[in-house]
Amino acid sequence: MPKTFEIAVFNGDGIGPEIMAPTLTLLSGLSSDYDFVWHDCPAGAASYLDCGSDLPEASLDTARRADAILLSALGDPAVRFPDGTEMTPQIDIRIALDLYAGVRPVRVVPGMRTPLALPEGRTIDFVLIRESTEGLFHTQGKGTVTDDMAEETLRITRATTEKVCRFTFDLAEARRAGGHPGRVTSVDKANVFRAFAFWREIFDGIAKDHPELTADHAYVDAMALYMVQKPWDWDVMVTENMFGDILSDLGAGLMGGLGMAPSADIGDDHALFQPCHGSAPDIAGQGIANPFAMILSAGMMLDWLGRRQGIPAMVADAARVQAAVDACLAAGETTGDLGGTLDTQGAAHAVIARL
Ligand code: ATP
Ligand code: MG
Repeated sequence: MPKTFEIAVFNGDGIGPEIMAPTLTLLSGLSSDYDFVWHDCPAGAASYLDCGSDLPEASLDTARRADAILLSALGDPAVRFPDGTEMTPQIDIRIALDLYAGVRPVRVVPGMRTPLALPEGRTIDFVLIRESTEGLFHTQGKGTVTDDMAEETLRITRATTEKVCRFTFDLAEARRAGGHPGRVTSVDKANVFRAFAFWREIFDGIAKDHPELTADHAYVDAMALYMVQKPWDWDVMVTENMFGDILSDLGAGLMGGLGMAPSADIGDDHALFQPCHGSAPDIAGQGIANPFAMILSAGMMLDWLGRRQGIPAMVADAARVQAAVDACLAAGETTGDLGGTLDTQGAAHAVIARL
């Protein structure tokens, strides 16, 4: 009997449904050892216009019960709450399900449009972990604003910092088994803020449990420089929410833009996988969106499920999906944003053909 996984699917807005459909086709056809049941979860701008909620309780419940969550892109800048604020259901999901570890792999392979001229023999292959539930987002939407002053709070808790650091060291351990250097870097600002000195102390404590890994620190401003100057130097880094928000866009820039950047948001009991890009309303409905970031995010889901459930074939399939996307990139089998001539369906089928 194949193992069946229940997956909450947020088709979302704009190009969301266009990149999700071929991704589900790809996943369904991968293996006879496991299969998936898809549960449609309305959310985002269309859902708000339809039923008055950008994150209906029923969708959140389905996500809570599912084995994993796939999300394409939610929201539309043209649809706002009556007070003018933008809806951010993906952030609300992160908080509701305590998805504290934002996983942002930064990999540059031939065919990507990296703006850097890499020296011979150098590649970019690191993972940024962004703490995603506190830090400078703690008072998000609830900061104090008077006529003369605005104030927000930076919150670093021991419990969450320990969890996100443990997650990071475990990831570095798993990568080391696959031939990566086994180095973890804390990105902070411990020289100026006591909150980051506190963070660093916790990081150093967790590092002691992993003597086989190298643990070090970098200030966030210096890291912004290093990510451009010597991006090949890094393996796994962990940082606070706002720093991670900024550095992950810098990382996406190294890959030539958001169109190639996958992500995962992981907690103790739940995990969500989504591309880093938004709903791209400017190209929605034309069938030309690049599906690779969505497909790579689905690959990350296979890896997470496979490791968690002890199904090595699934972990291997995750690697196969990544290799198939890499091969398409190298062969120029891509959508227009990457210089290719394929539409969304064509690019997705090119990946499927290589599986
Ligand atoms: P959000 O606020 O939801 O993060 P954003 O303002 O960052 O959205 P995106 O929706 O990511 O914006 O779009 C930014 C630009 O990148 C747009 O020009 C869009 O067309 C392009 N883009 C985003 N995703 C893709 C994709 N998958 N394929 C092709 N182009 C894309
Ligand atoms: Mg954005």
